[in-house]
Parts: sequence; C-alpha cells; structure tokens
Amino acid sequence: MYKDSKKKLTITIDAEILDKARKAAEGKNIPLSRLIENFLSFFAEPYVYCFSCGEKFYVKDAKVCPKCGWLICPYCKACRCGLSEDVAVSIFYMRKVYEDLLVGRLK
Ligand SMILES: [Zn+2]
Ligand SMILES: [Zn+2]
Repeated sequence: MYKDSKKKLTITIDAEILDKARKAAEGKNIPLSRLIENFLSFFAEPYVYCFSCGEKFYVKDAKVCPKCGWLICPYCKACRCGLSEDVAVSIFYMRKVYEDLLVGRLK
C-alpha cells in the first residue's frame, strides 16, 4: 500500500551541515531526499552484518547475549563471547558508528 507513495517532509537542520551534505550529495549524484529516506529506513529498522558468517540481520530479530551484551547472530549464534580481546575491540568500534548514527544503542 505504501509502495511508490511519497510524502513531503519539512525539516529544520543546521545550515552548515545542510550545506556540506548538499555538496557531498551532489558529488555523488545522490538526491538529498534519497539519502534522508535511506537513513530513516535504517533508523526505523536497523540492521547489521554478522562479523562471523556475514549474513545481514535486523536488530529487532536478534537477541542480546546476557553475558557480553552484544547482539547474537540469528544464523550462526556468534556474539562477543567467542572472540579474542583484539578482535572484539575492533568490532566494537566499527559498531560504534551505528550507535553514533542512531543516537543510541542498537538494542
Ligand atoms: Zn552469523
Ligand atoms: Zn556473548
């Protein structure tokens, strides 16, 4: 039902950020509305790729491991528990980008 239906969105954001974003979007030939749509879609239903098996899964479909506090991959059951400290730290900082973007924890 929602397919192909568009709605107008009026938002107010920081002028400098908007300028920079417009330039970056022009450079990549991506309409700003598409970028916003893309982000909002991710925000509404965030997903990640499993660091172990590479499958994409939605955060809402994954459980949090009570031991390590990470999402458990619904496909291969991987979480931080099976990782060495070094690997866990690098993944932690990669996932942190998501949390910055979503202004909060993934789950
Ligand atoms: Zn997996
Ligand atoms: Zn765990």
